Amino acid sequence: MSGTKTINHWLDGKLFEGASGLLAPVTNPATGRVTGEVALADVADSRAVIDAAAAAFPAWRDTSLAKRTQVLFAFRELLNERKHELAEIITAEHGKVLSDALGEVTRGQEVVEFACGIPHLLKGAFSENASTKVDVHSMRQPLGPIAIISPFNFPAMVPMWFFPLAIAAGNTVVLKPSEKDPSAAIWMAELWAEAGLPPGVFNVLQGDRTAVNELLVNPSIKAVSFVGSTPIAQYVYAAGTAHGKRVQALGGAKNHAIVLPDADLDLAADAMVNAGFGSAGERCMAISALVAVGEIADELVAKIAERTRTLKIGDGTRDSDMGPLVTKTHRDHVASYIDAGEAAGATLVVDGREVQADGAADGFWLGPTLIDNVTPEMSVYTDEIFGPVLSVVRVETYDEALQLVNSSPFGNGTAIFTNDGGAARRFQNEVEVGMVGINVPIPVPMAYYSFGGWKNSLYGDTHAHGMEGVHFFTRAKAVTTRWLDPSHGGLNLGFPQNI
Ligand code: NAD
Repeated sequence: MSGTKTINHWLDGKLFEGASGLLAPVTNPATGRVTGEVALADVADSRAVIDAAAAAFPAWRDTSLAKRTQVLFAFRELLNERKHELAEIITAEHGKVLSDALGEVTRGQEVVEFACGIPHLLKGAFSENASTKVDVHSMRQPLGPIAIISPFNFPAMVPMWFFPLAIAAGNTVVLKPSEKDPSAAIWMAELWAEAGLPPGVFNVLQGDRTAVNELLVNPSIKAVSFVGSTPIAQYVYAAGTAHGKRVQALGGAKNHAIVLPDADLDLAADAMVNAGFGSAGERCMAISALVAVGEIADELVAKIAERTRTLKIGDGTRDSDMGPLVTKTHRDHVASYIDAGEAAGATLVVDGREVQADGAADGFWLGPTLIDNVTPEMSVYTDEIFGPVLSVVRVETYDEALQLVNSSPFGNGTAIFTNDGGAARRFQNEVEVGMVGINVPIPVPMAYYSFGGWKNSLYGDTHAHGMEGVHFFTRAKAVTTRWLDPSHGGLNLGFPQNI
């Protein structure tokens, strides 16, 4: 294909073409044009990349904390200086507007900053004289090569939820990015090399399910951090654990925001528009179901509609609020939910199918869509749509609203808008969701807390980053020490007791 680039794998500190000969097109969603072709690994290519990570592990594991931290600091500095470059790459392949792409990089950078504190995070405990002249100490050690399998919607931030801590803790990494926007991973690999990370510690494996399947069965891979849709998360968790790996598999979402009658409706309407339509709704923490409680519904919907109509839809490199969807197939899939909602009797307040976008005619455009009078059995409510579609469900009471949220099979994020501290406190106690916002629509925890949902939004028991991330990428060892002297002599076959 002339005029396009090939996006290859990264192995041992350099680009690697692989031998499969398989390629998939990469598209700019704002123009609809193919801008590159990504290599798709076969089993042999996948093994070559995994072998590089396995070969680099012993030396990296034994690299001092001081040296590891220096490399992390250097990576952080380079990322901070050059994050605009990464944001442009994200916009060109994902479609999100530049400011949003920059925001994604900044949230990823926060995890790098957290990982710079690894000497403190890995400190163990020491107990002198746990028994007479016997000391006990604990330590955490790296696991080995780690697979990170990431989705299209955050090509930089989601990998950065994992790899800074994995590398800081002494592991090596194979990142398998989404084949829809694979270039960000290579840019980050080059940055690691520039920061002084030894070859083989951070590797990129481009590909589809063939590459994923090899990561799930290959004995060199010790742990898998996956983020993507729920069916694939379920599969990855089942297959990875069946092959003896530690797995955290973050899945899909259907996030509700409850607006109580006492809320400030202008602030709530702003928040609904930002969280419903930011990144074209292609965020796992997007609000897709607004639960309006009581008599405020008409006024709230009117305020949201008014704001929604002011949004500028267009090419992410221009002065737009919202960009295109990632592929034409996905755009059509999302639009089909609007068709289905309309057919089922919901009220289309703002119809994104009629959008006038500031961008090329062949871009994958779909405008922000507000659908009122949605009921819980409609597919626009039950399914994760992953597009700019905000459904409004009207209920009479807080209890009905809570019941809706808690009945969802997903439990990623949720928010409540209220000025009533007692109601908010009750909600945070009662809601069955992993991440809760109180007057905060997209409650993505800071790097030093952990990110993760409940129910079908996460398989495994460890969330991403924060101390749970440190634990996921290390295993504990407890060491009992006694320096022998004559007082320790004699035979005793009884179970050791502490005296
Ligand atoms: P996806 O499940 O299609 O793909 C995720 C990864 O799995 C990609 O690397 C892809 O190549 C791979 N994959 C796809 N099909 C596969 C198969 N059959 N076998 C093995 N591997 C396969 O997800 P996506 O469309 O890229 O991303 C959007 C989804 O990710 C949404 O469901 C969203 O909610 C979810 N997501 C969740 C979180 C979270 O924190 N819970 C964060 C971001 C995105």
